[in-house]
Amino acid sequence: MNDHPVDWQTIARHISQANGSHFQMDTLYNIVGGTTNTAYRLEGGNQNYFVKINCHPHFEFFAAEAAGLAELGQPAVIKVPLPLCWGTTEQHAYLVMEYITLKTDITTSASILLGQQLAVMHQVSKVPFGWYRNNYLGLTLQKNNLEENWVEFWRHQRLGYQLQLASRNGYSSLQTIGERLLADLHGFFGHYQPHSSLLHGDLWSGNYAQDMQGQPVIFDPAVYYGDRETDLAMTELFGGFPRSFYEAYQERWPLDPGYSIRKNLYKLYHVLNHLNLFGGNYLKQAEKMIASLLSEL
Ligand code: ADP
Repeated sequence: MNDHPVDWQTIARHISQANGSHFQMDTLYNIVGGTTNTAYRLEGGNQNYFVKINCHPHFEFFAAEAAGLAELGQPAVIKVPLPLCWGTTEQHAYLVMEYITLKTDITTSASILLGQQLAVMHQVSKVPFGWYRNNYLGLTLQKNNLEENWVEFWRHQRLGYQLQLASRNGYSSLQTIGERLLADLHGFFGHYQPHSSLLHGDLWSGNYAQDMQGQPVIFDPAVYYGDRETDLAMTELFGGFPRSFYEAYQERWPLDPGYSIRKNLYKLYHVLNHLNLFGGNYLKQAEKMIASLLSEL
């Protein structure tokens, strides 16, 4: 994000247009907790909005995020902040959405609800694997070209794509073992035939909370349609979700026993993405994960 002052007047005008009623900003509050953007609560009259700001190239990220929030909100299963408008001012890109007062220390009943609702959301299936548009995982492009074959999708648009980025970033130790893994990917699937589920796509513990009524809320997605096991695997990667969440999910829609191994294939995608974004220890972690996956074949 650059140091220029944010042009709040333009953003307020856009909010007024999108709502069809005049919005006058009174107060601005900083919101902490994000990993990529600067976030604010914008208050005016009795209205509140959650606004993300970044520099111009982020316009595409925000357009993709708005499309993802709208897609997740459409079946009305899990509460999602609805996007209102997005655009650019002279110096910045912005995304405005519904403001929801959030509590991050989620109660057991909200965690059970989240497990149940995620299982129901995963039953939403509209297209083959992929989506109608690309989006971003953090700052990395996530390709979503529609594909009927899940193994091909995971091979080319997920693991293969991240391995290519890793090669460009100089992580050569991953290439030979990575290629072996890609070549043998079908070995992890046996008779398992993934359903094409509506996915959050980046469901780590920093991307869910609960509202003041005790309803779970998910946000900051990287939506596409794919194997539901990928969302579950991501929940386990950084910190994990409460046990009650997993029990509630499994009760609604039990997981295939092969999940216990495939989840590492799915976690690997996120670990490679972290390696490509942040470097460091993720290299050792990715090497270990690939070696361990190869030993399962
Ligand atoms: P970033 O894109 O920078 O990672 P996030 O989307 O994760 O930002 O949002 C940053 C923080 O703001 C979250 O951790 C959450 O606590 C809070 N938050 C996210 N969306 C909303 C919202 N619609 N209303 C209120 N708070 C929100």
